[in-house]
Amino acid sequence: MIEFSAVNKSYGALHVLKDINFSVNSGEVVVICGPSGCGKSTLIRCINALTPFNTGEMIVDGRDLSDANIDVNNLRAEVGMVFQQFNLYPHLSVLDNITLAPRLVKKIDRAEAEETARKLLDQVGIHQKEDAYPGQLSGGQRQRVAIARALAMQPKIMLFDEPTSALDPEMISEVLDVMGNLAEAGMTMLVVTHEMGFAKRVADRVVFMHEGRIIEENQPDAFFSNPVDSRLVSFLDKVL
Ligand code: ADP
Ligand code: MG
Repeated sequence: MIEFSAVNKSYGALHVLKDINFSVNSGEVVVICGPSGCGKSTLIRCINALTPFNTGEMIVDGRDLSDANIDVNNLRAEVGMVFQQFNLYPHLSVLDNITLAPRLVKKIDRAEAEETARKLLDQVGIHQKEDAYPGQLSGGQRQRVAIARALAMQPKIMLFDEPTSALDPEMISEVLDVMGNLAEAGMTMLVVTHEMGFAKRVADRVVFMHEGRIIEENQPDAFFSNPVDSRLVSFLDKVL
């Protein structure tokens, strides 16, 4: 589904992704962790072309991202993204937040888009809030709406960039539960998170980044019980 080959990315003189080789298979759930500033957001933003990379090759569901003619809207319809800060449209109701992209990008008519949106709101456990505005919701509810909004485009891949980092502690599990259900349903997911309990329970593979490089990756059991690189050992000491 996703393949990075020798990908490098710099912001000016700052070399942020260093020779990344990495892939995600269909249906796989991969958690990425690592210290702040190591390049996790940059890496996942490359996947839906929110951030352009400099050298190397990237293939996402058969699309070559170095091709200048790539249809970015089409790519982003297939790759849903959920951000730390929700990024909902504050002036639109929950229902309109969810139906906007399917209507504009996929030209789905309003009634059908709303029917799908209501099913998705059910799935994320907030069907009673369709007329609310984002400002009237808790952080956990907002993030669940953001997940429903991404799912409304029927993506093949879901990217999550620290989806629970801005939430009060009591709301974290309601969002992680929705993500766990999605994983169980077979979604291909790439999740940047410090929630190591989620990684242990849900991930097929955990990846550790450090200063722009992938240092170690393994199945959760081995990753947590038998870390090899000393930088991972000291990272786990801090987060576990
Ligand atoms: P992480 O998500 O692991 O915290 P990021 O990918 O956000 O790391 O950032 C990696 C490095 O790139 C950091 O040093 C950050 O300050 C820098 N950076 C991120 N985005 C930009 C940008 N748009 N312009 C310049 N520097 C950036
Ligand atoms: Mg980040």
